[in-house]
Amino acid sequence: MSSATSVIKLFNTLTRQEEEFQPIEAGRVRMYTCGPTVYDYAHIGNFRAFVFEDLLKRWLEHRGFQVTHVMNLTDVDDKTIKGSQQQGKPLREYTDFYAQAFFEDIKALNVKAATIYPRATDHIPEMVSLIKTLLQKGVAYRGEDGSVYFAISKFSEYGKLSHLRVQELKVGARVSQDEYAKEEAQDFALWKAWSCEDGNVFWETELGKGRPGWHIECSAMSMKYLGETFDIHCGGVDNMFPHHENEVAQSEAATGKPFVRYWMHNEHLLVEGKKMAKRLGNFYTLRDLLTKGLDPLAIRYLLLSTHYRQQFNFTFEALEAGKKAIERLANLQRRLLEANGKGGSGELDRLLTTVQRCFGDAMDDDLNVSVALASLFDFVRDVNNLLDESAISHEEATKVVAQIADFDKVLGVMPKPKEEILPAEAEVLIKKREDARKARDWKTADAARAQLKAMGIMVEDTAQGVRWKREKA
Ligand code: AMP
Ligand code: ZN
Repeated sequence: MSSATSVIKLFNTLTRQEEEFQPIEAGRVRMYTCGPTVYDYAHIGNFRAFVFEDLLKRWLEHRGFQVTHVMNLTDVDDKTIKGSQQQGKPLREYTDFYAQAFFEDIKALNVKAATIYPRATDHIPEMVSLIKTLLQKGVAYRGEDGSVYFAISKFSEYGKLSHLRVQELKVGARVSQDEYAKEEAQDFALWKAWSCEDGNVFWETELGKGRPGWHIECSAMSMKYLGETFDIHCGGVDNMFPHHENEVAQSEAATGKPFVRYWMHNEHLLVEGKKMAKRLGNFYTLRDLLTKGLDPLAIRYLLLSTHYRQQFNFTFEALEAGKKAIERLANLQRRLLEANGKGGSGELDRLLTTVQRCFGDAMDDDLNVSVALASLFDFVRDVNNLLDESAISHEEATKVVAQIADFDKVLGVMPKPKEEILPAEAEVLIKKREDARKARDWKTADAARAQLKAMGIMVEDTAQGVRWKREKA
């Protein structure tokens, strides 16, 4: 399974086609994913986006690419300012709390850390400089309220990502809030002049007293860390317009170069047919589910097991099915560790070759994870059948264990083996033996060792102190 022989195809929102993935630099991928707005706990719809991006990154790494992954934290926008005011906290203290919660949540979901998590408030100078370039180039202008706007009529390709028909737009009409519908496509705010609703959130800059708009944050931070043109940009479909459309316009108008080569958008997680969203009140945070005793890895499985461009409904039944699927994998691994059959028929090698090919081909095909998982569970069934017939040798079983662990580097759904915990009784005996040895009471020391052995625990004395391990059955 090497990158030299396989071709990854990705669906590019820009062209609305599956394309062969060719990175700018051989062997390296530079990717940006819009991170959370840290004004509240993220809901599991948001985590569908982050888990999809994690799967994509893991697959690229599996195929041998070195991935530089940037995920921003939006810590200044209309929502964070409002939230901090409601709680009477400074903006940074307020957003720190939810940023921390976000990191805990992605850890629970076994999402691999990004290379860097830049925060918007740490990058105001970069945003100011980008806006100044846009003003100099005449694609941005200052409104009478002191805010700076992007003139969409000056960027002829405006609308190319979300396939907007811009001819129908009203020239010069302006929108100052960050989120608005396609039908309301207008000149949007790059820099928002201070108004009393902003309270003590402002920066004194060359552009005046104010704060950045949401869209410019991602242009400035992605280009700072990944360059003016980079490989992949992801986000949920709701971010395609206006957020990503505006990112393209700002970045390309400033640099004159293509901003992103492959745009990838995940579909929504639904609840009874409607998008899971804060404003609809139909959401679960990860914490809601964990306090119900649900398994975070089953939640991860559920979020990644439907193809990212398909919507699906969240249900507790589907979560239960995810848990069962993970258990099937874990049970097989356990059975394999005990396998000691005849083996050597060639059947197992045939199954291994098939699953490697099917899983790999499906994932290369725009991350077709449902087909990849189907081939994996066919394999699990067939290996279980061979185990029932005692037809797998210890060596063959070791190969299968390694193969499943390799698939799980991509899926990330199997529980880590728990650290072995010493029973309290054994701990007392180890201490007793140590004390006896110090007192040169060899009889007591030997008796304690024998009792431990009877419990299946071997002790040995090393330069670093006493070590213990379980006796192999
Ligand atoms: P936000 O914190 O609102 O900026 O959202 C973070 C990410 O979650 C973005 O990529 C959104 O597009 C994505 N997102 C929001 N709601 C959903 C949903 N119901 N299903 C899937 N992705 C979503
Ligand atoms: Zn963004």
